[in-house]
Amino acid sequence: MAELGNPQSTIAILQKYHFNFQKKFGQNFLIDPSVLERIVDAAQITEGDCVLEIGPGIGTMTQYLAERAREVVAVEIDRALIPILQDTLSAYKNVVIINADILKVDIGQLVKERNGGRPIKVVANLPYYITTPIIMSLLESRVPLKSITIMVQKEVAERMQVGPGTKEYGALSLAVQYYANPEIVANVPPNCFIPRPNVGSAVIRLTRYEEPPVQVNDERKMFALIRASFNQRRKTLANGLANAAGLGVTRERVTQVLEEMGLSATVRGETFTLEQFARLSDLL
Ligand code: SAM
Repeated sequence: MAELGNPQSTIAILQKYHFNFQKKFGQNFLIDPSVLERIVDAAQITEGDCVLEIGPGIGTMTQYLAERAREVVAVEIDRALIPILQDTLSAYKNVVIINADILKVDIGQLVKERNGGRPIKVVANLPYYITTPIIMSLLESRVPLKSITIMVQKEVAERMQVGPGTKEYGALSLAVQYYANPEIVANVPPNCFIPRPNVGSAVIRLTRYEEPPVQVNDERKMFALIRASFNQRRKTLANGLANAAGLGVTRERVTQVLEEMGLSATVRGETFTLEQFARLSDLL
């Protein structure tokens, strides 16, 4: 049975090891058993699964994951947490602890070694200072994975899930939705953590598509167009793209292509769907 995940046992562990929270590592530890159950349920872990946990902290969620998965690989950057993890996870023979920065780990290689190259599931209460780079590198690197179930800042979860015409809609929405189906599964208030974060949090599950929902000839070009149009949100798409360095498109050419798509020259990128960005990219 998982023993951590409540305020008393978390505080006891922190005191036993004289642990000092490191703000720079985004350390907010979960202390609510019902939230932990929700995350692990949402991740739909079964006994055949290999799970990658990013930032196990003192091993709270790791215990819950280890109860259900075949194996949990937990990657933690803070060296001070490693002896704690070795203690709190000593009863679990199916946990591998790695002391590393997740952004420097070759996850493709890890999946090969630990799961014979078959898709893994990622579960994490993410450090909020690097949420976007972690998600984008997992999705873009095409590491074999089934799903990513993560706690993130509430606004970031909303940005990943919304569609065109809302103020949260942007490059992150489109990038995530090209690779995965996002579903927010829970909202989590600050009092579920020690120390309390200054922001609300949410758990979101990204289920990887086997095939992207739209076809595009050159993904990189499409994402360059997406980034350029949201960098200059207030401008029309034609002006925004013509101003962007490195794209090599003129205002006239964009206007011409928009016309071909049956759209006005004054349209803005924030109204564009993924399908429309794909079409724009192919036509340009
Ligand atoms: N999973 C624990 C929990 O739910 O209580 C801790 C979550 S805490 C929000 C984020 C964890 O990620 C911390 O343990 C922190 O040290 C770790 N972390 C921060 N940056 C990291 C990185 N680049 N690579 C791996 N772990 C990191």
